[in-house]
Amino acid sequence: MNKILEQAVAKGKKMTALGRTATYIPELGHVNKDYLGVCVCTSDGQYYKCGDADVRFTIQSISKVISLAVALERCGYERTFDRVGMEPSGDSFDSLVKLDLTSDYPSNPMINSGAIAIASHLASEVSFENMLKFTRHLCMDDEITLNERVFHSEMGHISRNKAIAYLLESKGILENSVEESLKLYVQMCSLNVTAASLAGFGLVLASDGVNPVTEERLLHSWVVQIVKTIMLTCGMYDGSGKFAVEVGVPSKSGVGGGLLSVVDKRMGIGIFGPSLDEKGNSIGGQHILRELSAKMKLHMFADNVPEF
Ligand code: GLN
Repeated sequence: MNKILEQAVAKGKKMTALGRTATYIPELGHVNKDYLGVCVCTSDGQYYKCGDADVRFTIQSISKVISLAVALERCGYERTFDRVGMEPSGDSFDSLVKLDLTSDYPSNPMINSGAIAIASHLASEVSFENMLKFTRHLCMDDEITLNERVFHSEMGHISRNKAIAYLLESKGILENSVEESLKLYVQMCSLNVTAASLAGFGLVLASDGVNPVTEERLLHSWVVQIVKTIMLTCGMYDGSGKFAVEVGVPSKSGVGGGLLSVVDKRMGIGIFGPSLDEKGNSIGGQHILRELSAKMKLHMFADNVPEF
């Protein structure tokens, strides 16, 4: 395993120069884009790490997976999908075009409009403190905290998400004010995790919602099924289709450079690589996953994936 991880990180490292950090949140622009690390957490609870797997970074859009899971647990299937769809959008993660012109609700909970709608529902159900506590359980990492600098940096440059939130409000989709909805959304995006925390979370999802070490059930089976399916179809935004064909592992990216992947019944994978492609997905991270999928036969639908 260690050898495979080393080779994958070495290959990924060659790609980091091609991308950029997410400077639209100024604090993220200060992160060294050459960081690259991976952690695999296998079903026996063993962690395998290579590169910058213990460096803290903000979870960003990967928190959308947690918020969707909590919304399903607290509000149920009908209420959650009452005002958020479950179809890929084919647009960038921060787009408001379809929401304005062709649809009266966000396409799915993995893009900003969908996640802000979910945060608005959650704001009446659960405090940020409890969301943080639950995130620590899901990631098997008690050291996750709010990154105040990133939180304030994003809140200070929130115009686009504010525009999305007002559009949602105008369509009667928000359950709380624009301010409350955005605050919880950005707080969740600003949680400091590591590749290892994401690997732990991935393992819980791979284990049907149970922490395999303590055997504690953290999420219902039906919630995990929905979350993993939506990760496969929408987790990499408008890059989800190609990624599913080539890698075949449900994954979720964030503009902090994180990637969370779930290999059912086998392992969780967490990656940190803040150099992003034009869709906002980690460049080095995608290369690592391509390599791991081929070498360890991780693709959901194939034993041998051809070189694409
Ligand atoms: N907080 C970021 C935003 O709303 C999350 C986006 C992302 O990770 N793709 O723009």
